[in-house]
Formats: sequence, C-alpha cells, structure tokens
Amino acid sequence: MTVFTHPEFDNHEHLSFYCDPDSGLRAIIAVHNTSRGPALGGCRMFPYDSDEEALRDALRLSRGMTYKSALAGLNLGGGKSVIIGDPREHKSEALLEAMGRFLNQLGGLYIAAEDSGTSVADLKIMGRHTVHVAGIADRPGFDGKPSNGDPSPATAYGTFVGLQSAVRHKLGRSDLEGVKVAIQGIGNVGYRLARHLKDAGAQLWVYDIHQDQVDRAVDELGAVAVSADEILTLPVDVVAPCAMGAILNDASIKRLQAPIIAGAANNQLANPRHDNALWNRGILYAPDFVINAGGIIDVYYERQGPDPKAVRRHVEAIGTTLDEIFARSANEGLPTGVIANQLAEERFKHTAR
Ligand code: NAD
Repeated sequence: MTVFTHPEFDNHEHLSFYCDPDSGLRAIIAVHNTSRGPALGGCRMFPYDSDEEALRDALRLSRGMTYKSALAGLNLGGGKSVIIGDPREHKSEALLEAMGRFLNQLGGLYIAAEDSGTSVADLKIMGRHTVHVAGIADRPGFDGKPSNGDPSPATAYGTFVGLQSAVRHKLGRSDLEGVKVAIQGIGNVGYRLARHLKDAGAQLWVYDIHQDQVDRAVDELGAVAVSADEILTLPVDVVAPCAMGAILNDASIKRLQAPIIAGAANNQLANPRHDNALWNRGILYAPDFVINAGGIIDVYYERQGPDPKAVRRHVEAIGTTLDEIFARSANEGLPTGVIANQLAEERFKHTAR
C-alpha cells in the first residue's frame, strides 16, 4: 500500500492509522488541509474489502471536505475518518469508545461527524472520550424548530435555494411556479426538498426504491410516481438527484432531457470528465459539493453556539455562491464543476495554519 504516491494523495497534511485489538477497531483518519481551520468531516464505517480501499476512501473524501467547506465560506478544513468493518456486525460500544480515544489523541486537528454507517448515538458514545465530535447537540434548527443535530433540514433548504439559483440562471425565472422537477430519492433530504418545492408552486415527479417513501410524496405533496428508468430522463426543467452517487455517467447523460441538474446527492458525477459531458450537452449542473453544503454549515454552527438566523443566512449564501459559479462558467466557457474547484482552491492554501 502506497501513501505519498497513491493516486488519491493530494498533499494531505496528516494520516493516522489506528488499531485497538480489544475492541477490533481498525480506523484511518485523513486530514487533507487545515489552512482555513480544523478538519471536519464524517466518520464512515464500511466493510471495506481491503485496507487499500479504506485508505482510498479516506484520502478522496477528506479532500472533498476541504473543497466543500472552503466554498461554503466556513473556517474549517477537510478531513474524514473511516472505520473498517460492517456496522451491523462489528460495531460495539467498546469500538466506538476506542474511536473516541483516538480522536482525542489528535487534539482537535480533526472533528468527526456522523456519516454512512455511524449515527448521532454512535458519535455521542465517541464523545465520552473527546470533545472533537460534532452534529450531536439538541438545539434550535436553522428554521427555529427543535433539532437533534440532524443536518438534513439545512441540507434540503440549501439545495432548494441552489435549485432556485440554477432556474434563475438557465430559465431566466425568479419563481418556481409550475417549474417541473424530478426527484430521485425522497428520503431525509429529498422529501424536505420536495416540500419546499411544492410550497413554491413547483410540479413534482418522484422515484424511490422504497414504495412507502413514494406513497408519502404522492399523498402529501401531489407528486407523480414514475419508474426508476424514467426519473432521470423525463422532459422536466430540473432533475434533482437525492439518493446515491455516480448517477451522471456516460449512459445517463446521453438520455437526460432536463436542462438543469440540481440535487443533494454526494458524488453525482461518475467521473470528473462527466462535468464536461454535461457542459457539452448544454445542461447546467449545480456542483453537488456546493449545493449540498447546508449540512456542514449547520454542524459548523453547532460549535459556534446556536444562532438559527445566522445559519439560515449562511445556508442561503449557497445561492450566491452558485450565482457566481454559473456566471464565471458562462463568461469563461468552462464547466461549472471546473469553476467550483477553481473557486475553492482560491480559498484555501496548501499550508497548514
Ligand atoms: P436517506 O437515506 O434519508 O435518503 C435516500 C433515499 O434514497 C432513501 O429514501 C432511499 O430509499 C432512496 N434510494 C436509495 N437508492 C435509490 C435508488 N437507486 N433510486 C432511488 N432512490 C434510492 O439519505 P439523505 O440523508 O436524504 O441523503 C440523500 C443524499 O444526499 C445522499 O447522497 C447523501 O450523501 C447526500 N447528502 C445528505 C446530507 C444530509 O444532511 N443528510 C448532506 C449532504 C449530502
């Protein structure tokens, strides 16, 4: 296993490998960049097939967090941790406590939040041994409603604001009345996004692998249920991917009919070159790590002290950032993902604080 010559290595500042034989914990913490502040990012637990696969994920995801936080204008760097193991089989209180002790050894260089395979409850257990965990505090949410730390409402609102920016730019419209939106995945974020859209007068089409999620959107929001194959290829104004990654690929991009892609799912592009493929087809893509930053903004404010109005204002600034990306992309004749990366790189340096 290589590190400094690894294809995903990008001048990462710090890597730690942890092993606790008693609990079975094997974990990697990757800190990509701390020039803007401590590295914050999810702690993922996944049954990786190899150490190499776990390292690859930690390197790639920590770098992504640097870009996401820089573009969101947060004083945070990028980091990620991965625990090797099946969360349903190998997760135990002892393992989570060991992870908490390891986090503490880094003294705040990296702050862990929940991610796939870990929950708020798990982070609270890690928090017995460290203060360097986030997204766990009961507090008022950005909308003033009580929140248990779940970032989904803020992510959904940021995605809604970003979708409005895309519609303004591409369709020249300042409202969403009658705008047609297809949502793939109507879980925590997708359903809340659908509700914002419905309230703004949009027409909705939905697909989810779970029928009860579909039924809820049909019954409560008047959405039209469609098949897995149709959801990405409908002749709508906007496709909003809110389920899994890599759905913008060679096969799907050819078949898209919507002029706008604006949704919350992480890693929507199967490969960075698909940014260009969308651009060549004249489809406006709202880069996922810009439009879905509401969650990290929400978690950031948990550490600053609850201030719902400030969180809302900051989440709404996602729209302004996208306005800038779309304008630069049009002026410079470059895809939106390329511009978003450039803009992020202007905001962090490859030197630690
Ligand atoms: P979730 O698990 O609550 O919802 C995902 C939904 O997608 C579920 O209803 C699931 O049944 C459905 N789904 C899964 N595979 C599907 C498929 N092939 N086709 C259609 N539907 C499918 O997750 P979430 O928290 O709503 O997150 C959605 C996406 O947004 C994920 O990619 C996540 O990484 C990203 N994201 C979430 C947040 C957040 O705050 N929750 C923040 C940033 C990014």
